[in-house]
Parts: sequence; structure tokens; C-alpha cells
Amino acid sequence: MERARTLFPGGVSSPVRAFRGVGGEPFVVERGEGARIWDVDGREYIDYVLSWGALALGHAPVPVLERLDDTMRRGTSFGIPTELEVELGELIVDRMPHVEMLRFVSSGTEATMSAIRLARAATGRDIVLKFDGCYHGHGDSFLVRAGSGVATLGLPNSPGVPDVLASLTVVAPFNDLDAVEALMRNHSVAAIIVEPVVGNGGFIPPDPSFLPGLRSLCDAHGALLVFDEVMTGFRIAPGGARERFGVEADLTTLGKVIGGGLPAAAYGGRRDLMQHIAPVGSVYQAGTLSGNPLAMAAGIATLHVLTDDVQQRIAKRTARLVQGMREIATRCGVPFTADCAGSMWGFFFRAEPVRSFADAKASDVEQFKRFFHAALDRGVYLAPSPFEAAFMSSAHSDMDIEETLNRLEDALGETLNLSRA
Ligand SMILES: *Cc1c(COP(=O)(O)O)cnc(C)c1O
Repeated sequence: MERARTLFPGGVSSPVRAFRGVGGEPFVVERGEGARIWDVDGREYIDYVLSWGALALGHAPVPVLERLDDTMRRGTSFGIPTELEVELGELIVDRMPHVEMLRFVSSGTEATMSAIRLARAATGRDIVLKFDGCYHGHGDSFLVRAGSGVATLGLPNSPGVPDVLASLTVVAPFNDLDAVEALMRNHSVAAIIVEPVVGNGGFIPPDPSFLPGLRSLCDAHGALLVFDEVMTGFRIAPGGARERFGVEADLTTLGKVIGGGLPAAAYGGRRDLMQHIAPVGSVYQAGTLSGNPLAMAAGIATLHVLTDDVQQRIAKRTARLVQGMREIATRCGVPFTADCAGSMWGFFFRAEPVRSFADAKASDVEQFKRFFHAALDRGVYLAPSPFEAAFMSSAHSDMDIEETLNRLEDALGETLNLSRA
């Protein structure tokens, strides 16, 4: 880390990795296998961050490695169409039929930036409506009340984003339809972009009426609905938010799981909208490594293994872990709330359920920090911020979960003794 800090700001390639949200030094990882990772000092951790949700099958899954090996021997990049893009595209559309047409890019940030460009072009409007605590990558339009990384660092907005651009983004509290309606009346909104289940402000599920309400408001005001499923895609249900909540977005962004641990992301949706994209239409968006063969191969191998049955099994284990944590908190007598959707989960030290980012910030952040470090000391790696979701993979066994719960009970007990001392 000392060498890294002379080279990279904070010693990291992405801010949350520096552990500023919890204090202390980040560990340096050496390798991973299944549900576990090992640091360069030989310490073992059960991993619930999983490359921030990207690894649905855990670390180094054999089917992905084999497909990568086979693919890389034929060349790693061409910048010419390949069959692999078609194969992964079909696997996605098969589970998400409302994504009638899509475009591959290399990061979630690119996917959301491009989706918003498209929404602005298609509607002829400039304003984007987002939600407090939702993160949609680091594009200029989205670095307004952007949750986890930004909140952890205490930066409300980012310098370097011109005011004129930031002024085109309006922000409502998550789960607050009245606030959305008021903004829609006063602004000519091109698109509402939302994490259907928030992961980047901590785990915050939508109220039952929230997503249907957004759909109706978009229809009433001629705006497009963009579901940012970079995190929720292939996690909250095989078909994503449409399957889980019965609400269909006009545009959907994907990333993380669809790249199987390599850089792949996508945006897509209604065919009439996607036909605005160059070269069919005039909305320009391009990428040298877009649809990269290795990234496509990892995504294909991942989605082949991640059948509906497998996703259900992971979801059951996730629910078991969350229930176990609630029981531990009750036994320890500490205010606590935890929830999950599919293989995505999270918790807060707060008695009441968390419905918005304001609620999340009202949780006991100091208790979280103590708990995070006590868990890490016992070999359980949780996200190093109170405002991040956690994940589960197909590699996490029932035994891993029991072991995790034992270690977490011990960890929680220790932090409570400390805080009383
Ligand atoms: C991770 C994430 C992004 C950004 O994706 P990157 O690949 O990190 O650029 C965008 N939206 C959501 C919901 C995310 O979780």
C-alpha cells in the first residue's frame, strides 16, 4: 500500500477501496477461489463483496476459466463483430425480453452515460431525474447526491462537474412519489433513472407502489424510465426488476454480473429507442474494446451456469444469512435492520426499516465501523462502507454461511463490549 500510495491517489484504482468509510488500512488481495479470498499476508476471508457484485459464481469458477482459456487462445480483441457478442446478447434478451435491442460497452458508467444521452436525444429534453443515494457511475450528470463512494468521502457533489451540467439533474428522495411528481410538473424531464433496489446507498428496497408509480408518472409526462440494473441485473431475479416487480423500463443498463468478472456492461431496451443509436441513428456512442471477446466469454459462461434454479438456491442462502444476522442482533440487543432481494443483501444498525438515503445516514455509522473491523479480523469481508450492499455467490455453501454467522456473532459481541467499556 505504501508503494501504491506513491503511484495512485489514495493508493487505489477506485475510491471506496481505500477504506476511508471504515478507517484503517485496506488489505491487498492475492487470490480468490470460490467464496474465499486470501491477502498477501496469507489471511483468509469469506468474501461478501465479490468484486462489488460482479462475481455471481464466486472467484475463479472453472466453467468461466475454461471458456476464457479457449477464447484467449484465438485472440483477445479484434474490433470486428464476433459470434460471442451475439451469444451473450441472446442470453440477456432471453431473460429480459423488454430489452429488445442492446449495445455492449465496457463499464456501468459508460452504460448509464449512453442511456441518458439516448433518452435526451429521443425526448428532445435535457433534464434527468435521479434519486438521493443512487449511484449510476461517475458520469457528470450523475455525480449529484450519488450515494456510497461520494457519501463515504463526505463530498456532496464533485468539483469539476460544471454547474450548468449539474443543474440539468434534479434529485428526489427514494420512495417519495410526491416529490417525483412535483419535480415532473416543474421540469421537462427526459428520463427518470433509478436503481430498482438501491445498493449504492446501502441496501434499500422500493415500497410496493414506488416503481409502478414511477412508470405512471413517466407515461403521464412523456418521460422515459431507465432502470439502472448494473447491480440488480441477474441478482434480484433472473429477469431483473421487470420479473421481480412487474414494471417494465424503457431502457435498462447492465454490468457487473454480465461480465463474469471481466469488463462488460450494456444498455438496451425498446427497439424504437435503440434505433437512435449510430450507425442506424445519429446518437453517437462507440468503444475500442466494446464487446471484447474475453469479457463476452466470461459473461456467457456465467449466465450459462446461472440458471433460474441456481439463482433461487443462492437467494435462499442469502435469506438464511440475513435471518441469522437478525437473530444475532436480537440476542445482542442492538438496533438492527437487514433485508435481501435474490442474492443482494444489506443491513443497518438502526431499529426502523430504511426507506431512503436519509434513513440510511441516520443509522449508527460508528457501530458499523466497529463491526466491519471485528468481522474482518475474524475473516469475514463485508463492504467497507455502511452505504454499500453485500452479495452472495453460488460458491457460498450452507457451511460457509453457518461459519459466517458464528464469526459475526462473535464480532458483534466484541464491538458491544468495546463500546460499553
Ligand atoms: C457499479 C454501478 C455502476 C457503475 O458501473 P462501473 O462498471 O463501476 O462503471 C452504475 N450503476 C450502478 C447501479 C452500479 O451499481
